[in-house]
Amino acid sequence: MEFTKHDHVVFVLDGSIYLTYHDVRKFGTMELVEKHKEEELSSISILGKEINDPNLNSDYLYPYVKKAARPIKTVLLDQNIVSGLGNIYVDETLYLSKINPKNISNKLNIYQVEKIIRSAKNVIDRAIILGGTTIRTYQSSLGVDGRFQNELNVHTLVGESCKACGDTILKTRVGGRGTYYCPTCQRENDLLIIGLTGGIATGKSLISELFKKKGVPVIDADKIYKNLLKTNKIMYNEIVENFGFAIENNEGIDLKKLGSIVFSNPEKRLLLNEITHPHVLVEMNNEIDSYRKKGEKMVVIDVPLLFEAKLEYLADLVVLVDSDNETQIERLMTRDSINRERAIAKITSQLDMETKRKMSDIVIDNSGLVSETENSFNEIFRKLRSD
Ligand SMILES: [Zn+2]
Repeated sequence: MEFTKHDHVVFVLDGSIYLTYHDVRKFGTMELVEKHKEEELSSISILGKEINDPNLNSDYLYPYVKKAARPIKTVLLDQNIVSGLGNIYVDETLYLSKINPKNISNKLNIYQVEKIIRSAKNVIDRAIILGGTTIRTYQSSLGVDGRFQNELNVHTLVGESCKACGDTILKTRVGGRGTYYCPTCQRENDLLIIGLTGGIATGKSLISELFKKKGVPVIDADKIYKNLLKTNKIMYNEIVENFGFAIENNEGIDLKKLGSIVFSNPEKRLLLNEITHPHVLVEMNNEIDSYRKKGEKMVVIDVPLLFEAKLEYLADLVVLVDSDNETQIERLMTRDSINRERAIAKITSQLDMETKRKMSDIVIDNSGLVSETENSFNEIFRKLRSD
């Protein structure tokens, strides 16, 4: 029998069978204890909860996260806190959570911790289905390669483009471990960016007002767009070139006319988005930067079609304003003075609410009285501030 330099312990079994402990990175330990005294194993007794343990929830994890002023990646790799989450899976989890691996853990709020847990469960579930991740040395006991490496978003992908925002994946070191992340999707936590969105006529403007009342700046994508139509000649001309002079009236572009063209024509809608989104994005980022320079801790970006426009990467957390279907239809009929059929058509032209709920981190139900919505908002706001 020949051994390699990474074979650290060999058990010789009956019939000249060898059981070899092979460990390239020397992360493992071995302990001998007497039979029935397994609880004395130091390495087992101090292990934290596994990611698929139903008791691994924010009640469990949040106190650990708040206790230490360590990079969040270091906390998640600490096997005394969470067991079985290795370097690859922590990188992938933090990418999906939109959290920079170096961010100091005790600055995170409970919604971000919930997002970490959700993301970690998704990553681990998917990796198990695909038989693990084969990068250099891992093979399953059956000698089969895993397939999760084909679905990695950041780990080992330095220099490649982020699937969400197109920025270049970077590599750094955190706690001595090679760490991969997207600098745009995973910003440093000096400014918490809340994405505010909702179904049509669910009452998003109420929540926007409540944030303003708390002194949080709100960047309104619709306002930016309407303002750019007046001030940005390049964007204006591009719209007229593509949609024709009939789109203009005495005051500029007729938004109602433009709206009715793109409403019934998905291709035209896509074209209009391609023309306008880059300009709106530049302006939004400028405003975010100016608030960051002023030292703001939280800012809201109010984007009605955040998911449809695939802009959720801009926000650390997404707040969805929701209402039951009937309330939504009635509010829309009143707001736009339209009949029931037309209201339903407008609602179904957007991404359905069930999908939006799944993609959001915080859902505020605005079906009831304003005072009820205000109460739930206050509770959410307290948790967002985290301190
Ligand atoms: Zn990105």
